[in-house]
Amino acid sequence: MIGRQFKCCSQCQQSKPLTAFYRNAGTRDGRAGKCKECKQVYNATYYRDKNDPKKEPASPRPRWKMCIRRKRKRRPEQFPLHIRNPDGRTRICRACFADIMKPTRSTGKQHRTKDLA
Ligand SMILES: [Zn+2]
Ligand SMILES: [Zn+2]
Repeated sequence: MIGRQFKCCSQCQQSKPLTAFYRNAGTRDGRAGKCKECKQVYNATYYRDKNDPKKEPASPRPRWKMCIRRKRKRRPEQFPLHIRNPDGRTRICRACFADIMKPTRSTGKQHRTKDLA
């Protein structure tokens, strides 16, 4: 009888039920070589690489970017990378980041860079 069939994932080397693999008509057993989990990781990596502003700028890069802390124009390279922002960089420049990260003696507490990113 045909029970639950298992297949070894080519990526994570784990035996998983066939249902854990996407269908792929081009293979002998009709299932993809990588399990769904590994495929998702693969896709996510591919997607991120494609959108990496360093490798492949999606839009023409602006020559200047305004630092929201000191309201000064600086070159985009002066802003640390921040994947979640539309232009892939933080809204404050490296110099300001360095400033913020310094613990201030008066208050003793660190600023929350999260709010500025
Ligand atoms: Zn896998
Ligand atoms: Zn700045």
